[in-house]
Amino acid sequence: MTKLHTCYVCNKQFFNATYWYDSLYDTKYDKRIIRPFCGPFCANKFRDMSDVNDYPQRKPLPRGEEWKIIQDINNVEYETD
Ligand SMILES: [Zn+2]
Repeated sequence: MTKLHTCYVCNKQFFNATYWYDSLYDTKYDKRIIRPFCGPFCANKFRDMSDVNDYPQRKPLPRGEEWKIIQDINNVEYETD
């Protein structure tokens, strides 16, 4: 299965995502959100422009189906925003 992603920063559509934001680690959101990035440039840009780093990390990590560790977003359905 080859999944088409849309970059959260530049809106480019692309395959084979290797960079993404995952709300699993972030106390800002109480639901699971994945934001794919087309490459390191957009991933860094997101880090610079967003306030997610101002929130503490989630500890311990939440449990349940919604919060399963995602190793590769190319093979899963995910919700973005
Ligand atoms: Zn991009």
